Amino acid sequence: MDAKLIKKAAYEIENEIIENRRYIHQYPEIGLELLHTAAFVKEKLLEMGYEIEEICKCGILARIGKPGKTLLIRADMDALPMEEINDLEFKSKNKCMAHTCGHDTHVAMLLGTAKLLKKFENELEGTVLLLFQPGEETLEGAKAVVEGGLFKKYKIDAAIATHIEVVDVKTGDLIYKRGELYASSDNFNIEIVGKGCHGAYPNEGIDPINVLVHIYLALQSIISREVSALEPFVLSIGNFHAGTVRNVIPDTARMEGTFRTYSNDLREFVKFRLKGDLRKSFFNDIRKEFIRHYYDYDNINRNFYPGDIDKYAKRIFGEERYYSPELKREAYLYLTFDEKYYQDMKAVIDDVYNTWLKELDSYIN
Ligand SMILES: [Zn+2]
Repeated sequence: MDAKLIKKAAYEIENEIIENRRYIHQYPEIGLELLHTAAFVKEKLLEMGYEIEEICKCGILARIGKPGKTLLIRADMDALPMEEINDLEFKSKNKCMAHTCGHDTHVAMLLGTAKLLKKFENELEGTVLLLFQPGEETLEGAKAVVEGGLFKKYKIDAAIATHIEVVDVKTGDLIYKRGELYASSDNFNIEIVGKGCHGAYPNEGIDPINVLVHIYLALQSIISREVSALEPFVLSIGNFHAGTVRNVIPDTARMEGTFRTYSNDLREFVKFRLKGDLRKSFFNDIRKEFIRHYYDYDNINRNFYPGDIDKYAKRIFGEERYYSPELKREAYLYLTFDEKYYQDMKAVIDDVYNTWLKELDSYIN
C-alpha cells in the first residue's frame, strides 16, 4: 500500500474528521452511559457500510478485512465530569460534562480510520477490528469489553490505542515509547466511621476528621519516605469530605484517591501499605473507626511493541515527526520536594502550555 496515497486520502477527509470531533465535543457523556455518543458512532459506521456489534453496553465493535492476522484499534469515548470553561462555538452543551481529556478527538480519529480502511478494503491482508470503548476514565470500560467476550470471539494478534498529548508534542507528530507508557491505575476510597458529637465536647465522641487527616498525612509519607525518588509513582487524594456545620463533629469522614505505578512490585507494596499496615495501625489505636470501603481496579501493563510500527509510521509521518520523546510526566513533580526543580519544571510546562494555547487559537481562528 502506498504511504503517499493513504496520506492524501486522509487529508481529503480532514474536514469531516474535524466536524465529527466538534459534534462529539458538544455532547459529552461520562462513564459507561454513552448512549448519544455510541448512537452517533453506530450511525456513522453503518453509513460507511460496516457491520457492527455491541460488545458491551455502549461499546461498539466494527470489523473489516479478510481472515488472517487480526489487529485491534481502540478509541475511548467518555468525557470528564466537569464544566467546560471557554467560548468555543462547539462548547459542551451538557451540564458538568466536558471532553477535556481529548477522547472526542480519539473517536473522530477512529471514525476517520474506518473511512480510510473502507477505501483501501481490497488491499487488506488480514482483519482489522475497530473498538469504540466506553468508561476509560472510570477504568470500567476495558473490563466490560473483555467480559463482553472480545477475546473469546476473536483471536487478536496486536492492539493499538493512542492518546493525544499536548505537552512536548507538536500537532502532526506521532510519539512512541518502548516498554511501559501508561502507568497502572488503582483507585481507593477510605471512609472513617467515628461518633458524632457537639464540637464543644469532642471528648464525648470519636472525631473521624482527625483520624482521616492522620491517614492523609501518613499517605504522604509513603510517597516521600518509602518509595525511591527514581521510581515513577503518584498517589493523589482528589476529594475529602466531612461534616456540614462548624460546631458539630460528624459521624463520618471520607476521601477518595488514586495511585499510579509502572512496576508491579511497587504497586503491590503500596496496596499492602494501604490495605494492611495503615489500616492495622489505625484499628489498633482507635477501636471504633474502620476503613469501610476499599476497592481497586487492575490495569496491568504488558511490554509489547511491534517493531513493524516503526517502519510504517516513519514512511507515513517522516523521520522527524515520529520519535520517542523524553516523557516529562507529572509524576516527577510529585516526587520532588526541591523547590528549584519544581519551579524549573513548572516553567517548562507553562511555556509548552502557552505555546499550545497560541497554536490552538490560530487553529480555531
Ligand atoms: Zn484520556
